[in-house]
Amino acid sequence: MNPFLDPSKDQADIQAEAALRPLRLGDFSGQRSVIENLDIFIQAANIRGDALDHVLLHGPPGLGKTTLAYIVAHEMHAQIKTTSGPVIEKPGDLAGLLSSLNSGDVLFIDEIHRLSPVVEEYLYSAMEDYKIDIMIDTGPNARTMQINLNPFTLIGATTRSGLLTAPMRARFGISSRLEYYDELTLSGIVVRSADLLKVKIHRDAALEIARRSRGTPRISNALLRRLRDFAQVLSDGTISTEVTKKGLRSLNIDKNGLDDMDNNILNAIARKFSGGPVGVNNLSMAVSEDVGTIEEVYEPFLVKEGYLVRTPRGREITPKGYDHIGISERGSGKSGMLFDK
Ligand code: ADP
Repeated sequence: MNPFLDPSKDQADIQAEAALRPLRLGDFSGQRSVIENLDIFIQAANIRGDALDHVLLHGPPGLGKTTLAYIVAHEMHAQIKTTSGPVIEKPGDLAGLLSSLNSGDVLFIDEIHRLSPVVEEYLYSAMEDYKIDIMIDTGPNARTMQINLNPFTLIGATTRSGLLTAPMRARFGISSRLEYYDELTLSGIVVRSADLLKVKIHRDAALEIARRSRGTPRISNALLRRLRDFAQVLSDGTISTEVTKKGLRSLNIDKNGLDDMDNNILNAIARKFSGGPVGVNNLSMAVSEDVGTIEEVYEPFLVKEGYLVRTPRGREITPKGYDHIGISERGSGKSGMLFDK
């Protein structure tokens, strides 16, 4: 998987990301309508002295869902506790977290689509009435007791909103979808991050990084940190366009920002499946990548950029996709007559 999108980040990556996180709504670039709406809802909740309604943030990885959760807590002058769907194994784990929240606090649950059904159901009454049942005593004396929680805001993040159950989705008063970023916004994020990292960067180099970041700030920031290394070793420490191009070539990021796996996917569809349509399971086997990762990470960007289309019968490569991997499609396109350019 693209190492810049790998969720199994090590401690150094986590710290590096945290250092570059904007802390206020005003510092969060892009996603204008999401930010404008959140700003209104936060101000209104603050004026009323209420907790903010529960918020669902969805969209591909690395677009700022966690960052926004921290910003919301900061703007609500509240504390944030963070966890993730697969980590909460049983209702008891959730009860501990929920009962520790103060009034107005934020509970951030990443990958909320991966909560187990019993935990999810347990969450419903907490979200709706700020009440939970807890089990006291064990064995024959076991009984449940209802406890009141402080009003809190649940912020759920998911890359797969389609996998959320309807009752869960219905319990979020605010639901926002984050979109891929345009190049100009991303280059602004690169310049800001370079400033925080105290590294000099040329404007054109920032734009080049932005262009090759798959519309994703996490990738922009990760590329920036790698290119800082190239600049330090190969030149005087300034990230110039020349250093950027050289570094990106070494990192196997092509001129359109596609990485090895993107290109493997396009090549597999074109060469092994005659351009498609091909089902995601077959594709996953052909490129040795997990189905979920293909669906969540690779496909959305390849579809958005017009390299692939999703049809009811499977994925198909487009003329732009053929062009990108240097194959010209002749004849019907389904005949398997492919010619390397
Ligand atoms: P997600 O939770 O959606 O996977 P994160 O919130 O962890 O993404 O963001 C990944 C990185 O990208 C963080 O280092 C964050 O600082 C940066 N980032 C994301 N969105 C923005 C933005 N709009 N402006 C500046 N930096 C951003």
